[in-house]
Amino acid sequence: MDALHNAFERHLAQTSPYPIALDVVGADGCYIHTRDGRRYLDLVAGLAVNNTGHRHPKVVQAIKDQCDRYLHVIPYGEFVQAPQVHFAERLAALLPPGLDSVYFVNSGTEANEAAIKLAKRITGRTALVACHKSYHGGTHGSLSITGNEAKKYRNRPLLPDVHFITFNGHAELDRIDTRTAAVIVEPIQGDAGVRVPTMEWMQALRARCTAVGALLVFDEVQTGFGRTGRPFALEHFGVVPDILVLGKALGGGLPMGAFIAAYDRMHLLTHDPVLGHITTFGGHPLPCVAGLAALEVLLDERLPENAAAMGRLFKELLVHPAIHEVRGEGLMLAVDLGDADLVQQVVHGCLEEGVLGFWFLSCPTAFRIAPPLTINSEEVSKACSIILAALDRATGH
Ligand code: PLP
Repeated sequence: MDALHNAFERHLAQTSPYPIALDVVGADGCYIHTRDGRRYLDLVAGLAVNNTGHRHPKVVQAIKDQCDRYLHVIPYGEFVQAPQVHFAERLAALLPPGLDSVYFVNSGTEANEAAIKLAKRITGRTALVACHKSYHGGTHGSLSITGNEAKKYRNRPLLPDVHFITFNGHAELDRIDTRTAAVIVEPIQGDAGVRVPTMEWMQALRARCTAVGALLVFDEVQTGFGRTGRPFALEHFGVVPDILVLGKALGGGLPMGAFIAAYDRMHLLTHDPVLGHITTFGGHPLPCVAGLAALEVLLDERLPENAAAMGRLFKELLVHPAIHEVRGEGLMLAVDLGDADLVQQVVHGCLEEGVLGFWFLSCPTAFRIAPPLTINSEEVSKACSIILAALDRATGH
């Protein structure tokens, strides 16, 4: 093991005993380059971050231009910073009416924390409802609404008054009642192994929230920015949430989160008490310019449409006796093999052949397909033949 790998293991805090540990020296488009001279077709995209590909020239240029102007000047919300204002204005123009006031934070989990605080303030209620098998982030509030006991049991006590319902299950909707401040839901569950609910359930969920005065919060941290074949996943269901939570691809490859609500509601954070949510680095100008540039690229290059088409191609090509199901929308796909060991063999087999894949933490029997949305049909075909060959080798077909 060389000195860099030694220092990686010894001095960089680790989160798992088995990191992939690719030694990255560069990345562009759909490819990651490593020190040993290899290149990998990236089917992970930094876990649904690099939607416009690695280092898109327009995003890189926007970052460089902003570096020549200013970086951090003051914590969020005090100065008029054009990068923040332009990005917020653009997002509001793209989103349905009622989602017009944007609060930028640092990550998806912080955005969920802040959305919970805002929901409590708007409704004056305390109870929260979330879904079994959901994932909303690693901080205590987000963990509290995460429906995965394995991630929670070493961290209790968590938030009280959190109740879980079955995703896409009608029977439990009456657990949402007049005590409920908010129902937080991923419109398509990600970490659960990509679970797509019916439009009927989403609309029933919206109707129930409206009937009892509970707020509907969509966590689109993973589904946002074209990943599912539409700019935002809410468009699949004809449902508008009261609060929208964004992250991952939002910052064009730089760290950023946001929660978005109606102006009058968001304004409640400014008084009684003031500074209802505060953050030093939220809305930093670099992720703002990168995110705005990435959003323009996403729309100009029609990447949501490409995601829908390439997603269909993956589903068409990934046919093998060992594949139980390919689930999902656009380029948010899960390939379910029904066997966690087989998933490990296939992911590692693909890695040897230059295709980077990753499994789901909460659904180890499946691996994810979530490449940059710029991927083309030749790259999809190449990825699929490598996946199918790895499956052949692992199953002896
Ligand atoms: N919400 C969803 C749906 C996610 O998939 C994730 C991360 O995977 C988060 C929230 C947390 O985002 P972050 O890791 O930026 O805190």
